[in-house]
Amino acid sequence: MLKYKRIVSNLLEENIYILSDENKDSIIIDPGLGFQHIKDYLEENDLKPIAILATHAHIDHIASAEECQRKYSIPIYMCKEDSLLIENYEKLAGFWKVEARKPKITNWIDKNETEIKINNFEFRCFFNPGHSPGCMSFEIDNTIFCGDLIFKGSIGRTDLPASSPLDMEKSLESFVNSFDIDSILCTGHGDETSLGQELKTNPFLMKYAR
Ligand SMILES: [Zn+2]
Ligand SMILES: [Zn+2]
Repeated sequence: MLKYKRIVSNLLEENIYILSDENKDSIIIDPGLGFQHIKDYLEENDLKPIAILATHAHIDHIASAEECQRKYSIPIYMCKEDSLLIENYEKLAGFWKVEARKPKITNWIDKNETEIKINNFEFRCFFNPGHSPGCMSFEIDNTIFCGDLIFKGSIGRTDLPASSPLDMEKSLESFVNSFDIDSILCTGHGDETSLGQELKTNPFLMKYAR
């Protein structure tokens, strides 16, 4: 049985998720600013981090990725289409006045990849660009970690330098029709919701309900 914990980070109230299984293996999803929170949770629950998974390369989602990687010697998975954002990481860190070193992405995920397996964790990958060129969602056990694609009542911004509003439209339409409506959405900011709930109430998504 998998469980996850949501931790609100110290930058832009981004959500860090720590997913763990009965063997105490754990995956850190979107390690935003606040390494200490991650470390405390792992230690309190006797969890062993085995990998970092990033929904996209924006700094609020990976500000402590390098520190997690350095302290735990674990790989980082991210969609290859966000490699340009990683190349410009230092510039963005400076903009947000964040002292965070650039993470080394060890496992680039191809945009056409549909599955990744990390020990006993088997994720379905879903490429959903728009908010950034390499946004990817990860589904496991009917729970989808969707980053900044969808929020409760809203969607991710598309006015950022590498955003594409057109790609976002396509991604949203395809996303909402690709998963079970009972799926839980673990969003990059704000409270969790479900796909069905958003299709009923989210003004940006209602038009896509089939
Ligand atoms: Zn973002
Ligand atoms: Zn974000």
